[in-house]
Amino acid sequence: MRSDPADYRFVAPGNLQGVMSLLAEQPGEWLPIAGGTDVMVQYAAGKLNGRNLVSIWNLPELQGVQVLAEEIRVGAGCTYTEIRKHEIVGREFPLLARAASWTGGIANQNRGTLGGNIVNASPAADSLPALLAYDAELILVSVRGERRVPYGGFHSGYKKMDLAPYELIRAICIPRVSSDYFQYTRKVGARKAQAISKVCVAGLGKLRAGTNGNVIDEVRVALGSVAPIPLRLTELERAVKGRAIDAELLQFAKRNTMAAIQPIDDIRSTAKYRSVVAGNLVAEFFEQLRMPTHSQGTRMCGAPGLVDVLARWNVVDAATAANEILPCCGSRAWAAAMAARRPLAAEADVLATSDEIWHSPSEAEWLEAFRSHPRIGDTGIGDSGKSGARDLDGKTVKAVGWSEQEQRKVADAAALTKLALADGNREYERRFNRIFIVCATGKSPEEILFILNRRLNNDEASELQEAWEQQRQITHIRLRKWLQSQ
Ligand SMILES: Cc1cc2nc3c(=O)[nH]c(=O)nc-3n(C[C@H](O)[C@H](O)[C@H](O)COP(=O)(O)OP(=O)(O)OC[C@H]3O[C@@H](n4cnc5c(N)ncnc54)[C@H](O)[C@@H]3O)c2cc1C
Repeated sequence: MRSDPADYRFVAPGNLQGVMSLLAEQPGEWLPIAGGTDVMVQYAAGKLNGRNLVSIWNLPELQGVQVLAEEIRVGAGCTYTEIRKHEIVGREFPLLARAASWTGGIANQNRGTLGGNIVNASPAADSLPALLAYDAELILVSVRGERRVPYGGFHSGYKKMDLAPYELIRAICIPRVSSDYFQYTRKVGARKAQAISKVCVAGLGKLRAGTNGNVIDEVRVALGSVAPIPLRLTELERAVKGRAIDAELLQFAKRNTMAAIQPIDDIRSTAKYRSVVAGNLVAEFFEQLRMPTHSQGTRMCGAPGLVDVLARWNVVDAATAANEILPCCGSRAWAAAMAARRPLAAEADVLATSDEIWHSPSEAEWLEAFRSHPRIGDTGIGDSGKSGARDLDGKTVKAVGWSEQEQRKVADAAALTKLALADGNREYERRFNRIFIVCATGKSPEEILFILNRRLNNDEASELQEAWEQQRQITHIRLRKWLQSQ
């Protein structure tokens, strides 16, 4: 830590009027702090400009998502967790919901706010391309009153924006017209989760019937991490209007994108990589837009199965949702908690939520999940009586099918290995009074036997912990399979 708290003043008036008065009395002297996920990083590095912090965290006037007939108004103080869980945001504005689920880890999503992301103005900020594509507008507030400005144009250069030192962002307004559009977003980072983007794309598009097939009616394409500020490709958007999507258009879109952006080399990537990836992603957006199933209605691209499964699952009733997801884990309490956490916007969101719930201290829930598996080597439906599998309704059959896939290699094991596994299973059940759980996917029968023999030496507490972790991994694999199913 390179800053000393004694050098700073921190006040929390607790209402908008109090904050605005302070900002107006001494413009530029007070730095608003919302979730603090950017401010505290600068503070810790000793790079914070100014010494006076005024808290805007939890200001009632900056909270909540207001759903109006024409638009939604997302309070600038809304956290990513609130945004990614909001039903209307998930359904109508999946680009924003998905950006929220991509931003940092769960702790960061619980603190970081949309207003903070806009004002921090990182070129790599995840939510900004979505706001550009949605034609969002900002409500700015100060003692002088409110003004409303388009988000496109709010950022004019690196960390430069149309915000006076005495102003706050109060809300982000997003027009509710997007349900007619195909929606596409991709973030390319060093890892699937918890990585700052190398390139991020958000696109909306719709087609209309032309004389020789469908042509582009309208597209909106925005990119992050490829210029000092997030960019809308307005020239490309105009140029493709009315054109059919063919190989020539895809090449044109790629070239045009690469010419419009100004990527840089930095620690995360090279300008060349960013340029090629940005061109490819924009071409992919058009390619997906061309697909007949995407020609109308809100559809998200990426992994089409995932999007369809989640979109449907997010809106079915809670009991149906819990039943559907149950075979991924086997614990009814876990399934009900997952259903209660909807809407979930993306795979990363589903997996993180599953982990959070699975950390529940209830041993009974763990044991219920363990019991839902067939014994290693006993995967057939015919074995279900022995294996402890429950009633063979459609969902349980699905779990049995997954178990068969997971244990495929065990089915082909040499007779001696099978016998040794059966002996080991019996010994395990005698010692721990439950079946042996291992994430079998990708493991050879010999590896599983080795793990089984090793774990027979565990004491009860550490063995329960190992089984818990194995179940967590199995659940991840099954959730991914479920999301990819049609
Ligand atoms: C570990 C970690 C991982 C991260 N990962 C990502 C990521 O993957 N993607 C991503 O985009 N970002 C990421 N971030 C950055 C950060 O979480 C976001 O930018 C977040 O949205 C900032 O919101 P905040 O409320 O914490 O802002 P704060 O830190 O409180 O404030 C940031 C700036 O915004 C100003 N501000 C805040 N709210 C308002 C308002 N309503 N009106 C006027 N000014 C305001 C503050 O004065 C300050 O200048 C990450 C940060 C961390 C620490």
